[in-house]
Amino acid sequence: MSNGQNHSTGLAAGLSQMLAGAVDSAKGSYVIRAVGVRKVYKMGESETHALRGITLDVRRGEYMSIMGPSGSGKSTFFNMIGGLDKPTAGKVYIDQVDIAQLDPYELAWLRCRKVGYIFQMFNLIQVMSCLENVMLPMSFAGKDSEEARERALEILELVGLRERALHKPAEMSGGQQQRVAIARALANTPDILLADEPTGNLDLRTGEEIIELFKHLRDTLGVTIITATHDLKMLKASDRIVWIEDGNLARVSTPEESNIHLEEVH
Ligand code: ADP
Ligand code: MG
Repeated sequence: MSNGQNHSTGLAAGLSQMLAGAVDSAKGSYVIRAVGVRKVYKMGESETHALRGITLDVRRGEYMSIMGPSGSGKSTFFNMIGGLDKPTAGKVYIDQVDIAQLDPYELAWLRCRKVGYIFQMFNLIQVMSCLENVMLPMSFAGKDSEEARERALEILELVGLRERALHKPAEMSGGQQQRVAIARALANTPDILLADEPTGNLDLRTGEEIIELFKHLRDTLGVTIITATHDLKMLKASDRIVWIEDGNLARVSTPEESNIHLEEVH
């Protein structure tokens, strides 16, 4: 156990240095680069070409929406840029680090600290309070529990739920649960928030509140936010919109250009 910890601590320190160096040299530029990313799912004889060669740079501190119909490859692309799955071909760089070069310990370190993940179904642990849910990633990162508790309360304050800290997810509305999930994603001060259909299970108004919260977090924390969605409400909130169709990047636009496009469609 202690050997394993030492091993991963040493690697974490090394990777930390490597990433810190990369961040210094990359300040103001791109936080994620995807180059020719392809993904083929093979099941027996059949092949699904979920991504057909996507090249995309994500700027540090931007709010990017990835738009596309169901089945177009949004979640698959998220799994690639979040280091959750490997592309069949192509490269993904996070802070200039080619994540294919990382060993499992380094990849786990990166997933734990660099990227915060938010899902449509919130994925909170039901037997834990909000506070414990938000503290969990900090305990994975080895943070002292008293510090973790304080930080968790601070983040819950940021998302407007400090007074609900001791409640369990089942006692909260969908919008509140998504806020807890966002707080949990922020626990280890990630550079990037990846939110896959974060408003998919919420009503219109609650969805808008979540979008506002993302904007607020981008503005106050400088965190890069990438959402995958087919929710058109996301359009006006984002800095850039990336349209994916059938595994291809169809176009990249600004909210203004997207409105024009939508008017043309209707
Ligand atoms: P979206 O998130 O835009 O709805 P997905 O990335 O989930 O799209 O899916 C893209 C395509 O890849 C779909 O045809 C889907 O059925 C297929 N797909 C996604 N995940 C898998 C998987 N684990 N195994 C096989 N096929 C998959
Ligand atoms: Mg999806």
